[in-house]
Amino acid sequence: MNKAILSLLLTLSFSTHLAATNQAANNRQSPEEYLSRAHALLARSEVTKAFAFVDQNRDATLREWAAITEINAPSGKERARAAFVEKILRGYKSLNVRYDSAGNLIAVRKGTGGGPIVVVDAHLDTVFQEGLKIKATIRNSRIYAPGVGDDTRNVEAMLAGIRAMDHARIRTKGDLVFLFSVEEETSMRGAKEFIKEHKGKIDYYIALDGGYEGFTYGGIGINWYRHHIIGPGGHTRSATPPYSAALPLARAIARIYELPLAHNPPTNLNIGMLGGAEVVNAKAADAWFTIDLRSTSNEVIAGLEQRIAAIIKEESERAGMTVRTEIITTTPASQLPGHRDSRLVRTAEAVYIALGFARPPITITGSNNASVALLAGVPAISTGAGPCGGAHSLTEWCEIEPLYNGIKKILSLQLALAELESSTRTTE
Ligand SMILES: [Zn+2]
Repeated sequence: MNKAILSLLLTLSFSTHLAATNQAANNRQSPEEYLSRAHALLARSEVTKAFAFVDQNRDATLREWAAITEINAPSGKERARAAFVEKILRGYKSLNVRYDSAGNLIAVRKGTGGGPIVVVDAHLDTVFQEGLKIKATIRNSRIYAPGVGDDTRNVEAMLAGIRAMDHARIRTKGDLVFLFSVEEETSMRGAKEFIKEHKGKIDYYIALDGGYEGFTYGGIGINWYRHHIIGPGGHTRSATPPYSAALPLARAIARIYELPLAHNPPTNLNIGMLGGAEVVNAKAADAWFTIDLRSTSNEVIAGLEQRIAAIIKEESERAGMTVRTEIITTTPASQLPGHRDSRLVRTAEAVYIALGFARPPITITGSNNASVALLAGVPAISTGAGPCGGAHSLTEWCEIEPLYNGIKKILSLQLALAELESSTRTTE
């Protein structure tokens, strides 16, 4: 049998198997049952106590959030920020704290046993250049500072949640693993290394990043290309044709934008950067443009990739030129069959609703560390602890008040998944 077909068949049967096990594990409960369990969890006295602690400590939480934000941590240079967080974590007896070889800071809150292992991840790194002085300012119920939202709000939510659990003497059956990851913004190396190292030992993975009202449970595929059209160039007054390579480039771009894009599966295409000659009075010998192509379906990406390549080839040849394509990065779409009905997604949905997020937007277009987990076959979702805006800009901001609600939400998710120990055993 053809090797490619064989591997395709294997993939298909593996996916079917995954889907089947995922479904079987799931459909034991209806959405209503998940919801009533979420309500029961929120009614538990330890949970009420933990929530009250979150409310009583708003000011301290806000101060700590600002203090962490002010330690800039460009990807690969998270050391100072990690050390600050490490010091806080080491103050909590409930945790086991260490670094791994990738530089991730990891704090494990051991369970009593017999429950799922839940990883909660927020990334330490920022997109801002080294040496940038950051000062958080508060006005009109918002906090402003580069990185305050992405991803410091979630780092803070994890810390505040741990304190609340400790205060309420909450014990879970499963281990809670708090992962303060590195290099999310550049390569997701921190999450990749962590997941590789813990293969087969993670039941659920929650990546805390963008978002607030809802969550994602799938990763969108993202391919970035730079296409060059190579021609002879020449002076403006040289014999024409040949034209500047800008002409086939323009024709190709116009045709690419005429390609129909699916809404379902969600698919996007953007041509954002282009270039040509270095001077005004030369025909471009190398005209180039970038494409950012995204879809939750790898088949759709592959299909569009082919059609785009054919257009560029046709337009180049029509002008007597050639094509050179560089792939800048590729991240495959990561979707787990049957995941919408999995215990993780159903539980998360129920927790959101029980906390008053009436119709949480639940999508499959995430692009963060959850994708790394999903690609490795680990059930994952991504969400955020508060509403923020202006990510990756110097004018980044977050609403302050909803963060406290977000802390409760993240905490509830952890407890619902790792399973709260029965009341009799919560105090010791
Ligand atoms: Zn982020």
